[in-house]
Amino acid sequence: MRLLTFRGGVHPPEKKELSEHRELTKAPLPELVYVFLANHTGVPAKPLVDVGEKVLTGQKIGEAAGFISANIHSPITGVVKEISKVYHPVLGKPDNAIIIERRGEDSWQLLEPQKPYEEFEPQEIIERIKEAGIVGLGGAMFPTSVKLTPPKEKKIDLLIINGAECEPYLTVDYRLMLEKSEKLIRGIQALMKALGVKKAIIGIENNKPKAIAELKKASKGTGIEIASLKTKYPQGAEKQLIYAITKRVVPSGGLPMDVGVVVQNVGTAFAVYEALEEGKPLVERAVSITGEAVREPVNVIARIGTLASELIKLAGGIKEDEVDRVIFGGPMMGIAVPRIDIPIVKGTSGITVMPKEITPSKEVYPCIRCGSCFMACPMNLQPFSLNLYATNRLYDRAVENGLMDCIECGSCSYACPANIDLVKNIKLAKKVYRTLKGGKK
Ligand code: SF4
Ligand code: SF4
Repeated sequence: MRLLTFRGGVHPPEKKELSEHRELTKAPLPELVYVFLANHTGVPAKPLVDVGEKVLTGQKIGEAAGFISANIHSPITGVVKEISKVYHPVLGKPDNAIIIERRGEDSWQLLEPQKPYEEFEPQEIIERIKEAGIVGLGGAMFPTSVKLTPPKEKKIDLLIINGAECEPYLTVDYRLMLEKSEKLIRGIQALMKALGVKKAIIGIENNKPKAIAELKKASKGTGIEIASLKTKYPQGAEKQLIYAITKRVVPSGGLPMDVGVVVQNVGTAFAVYEALEEGKPLVERAVSITGEAVREPVNVIARIGTLASELIKLAGGIKEDEVDRVIFGGPMMGIAVPRIDIPIVKGTSGITVMPKEITPSKEVYPCIRCGSCFMACPMNLQPFSLNLYATNRLYDRAVENGLMDCIECGSCSYACPANIDLVKNIKLAKKVYRTLKGGKK
């Protein structure tokens, strides 16, 4: 059978075997949590609590401050200790966080009512998702309620659930599909109801046959289909996923809704189930703590705002002689962090502790015009040209050649035999161009 896929891409070592067999377990409650006001894409939340105030687990502590923004909730029961700047793993600089110290039992303030998704109206589902502070848990952290509210003229006929988990090392979506299949299916059905679509397809790479079998069983009679995808990076990128499953092409500068599709991640669908039927705001998530340089990789459900250093302890700690770098996320699209006392955010799907020997040689050579980066680019761009324009500050030329279509997947850098960090230069050029244009594309 020909497997569904897309043009380009790369196949880095999967490394799933390190943690895929580890069941999800609850991480111990942290003594302190650091909840960023910017726990999502868009405008940071506005704090609703003061220093010294007592808070319950699940209590709203920050309110969405714009259309593209999200609520934040206390991940533990305790007292607000401080509101100050803490190093943010995505922004790469200190940013405002509410610091909460744990006190007493874990007492929850749940969202009411809790009932089967069938009893919610579509708009009520979207409202609950918004109230619960749910954002894209695949890493993008885009507010889910916004994605579920496309403009009237955009007709959506398909929901795609991203179960590809194409990033090497990470195995939390796999474990969710395996262990929480029935709840996950109900979350997907709720999303279908919210969008008013009759069809949903879960895309899963074919290196997860057990998850495919489990979800086929759990989705029987629901109309939800399972699509087996070729294992190739970045299979889980939205545009590549949509193309692989439907052959619809999202236009340059466009969004999935332009081709009638909304994409949600497996973890997000599970969070939707929990918000509706169990009344839980998004205060915890599944995280893989993995990599050859931790002693015993694990998959845990951790409270948002827990320090990575606490979670790494659950994986037996770092092998100090072997570690090269610690990455929030996986090695392809994740972000290397300068230290480990950094809190996880809603989009942190993994902490990957990379060993020295498989970190590619850092010696950089001149471009040999081999074309490997072009062959690897899933967006059909010419990364070597973009890199040239970027490093020579020819931003308009770069944009004419598709700079803003780059999905920052890193396939070009991975494929480059000269070790040129193309994606780093391209990302920087995008940032500079946006700044020059006053934040617009
Ligand atoms: S140019 Fe962008 S989209 Fe293309 S491979 Fe490089 S990072 Fe990925
Ligand atoms: S892969 Fe590297 S060496 Fe080859 S063309 Fe691209 S930038 Fe040049």
